[in-house]
Amino acid sequence: MIMAEKHTCDRCGKEAIGLQSLEGGFEYVCLEHADSLLRELKPGEKKVYGACVLERYS
Ligand SMILES: [Zn+2]
Repeated sequence: MIMAEKHTCDRCGKEAIGLQSLEGGFEYVCLEHADSLLRELKPGEKKVYGACVLERYS
């Protein structure tokens, strides 16, 4: 899967570091707005916690 496209934070418009899906919602987030769990991921890493999906871009 190619991640050439740049995404922006859904809350402030800055460059997104990853995406998170929590409680049914799905959003792109920058470092500032990312969940602490997402911030701990390494670039390219993806984690699934039950219904929550966290993916950090490389
Ligand atoms: Zn943001």
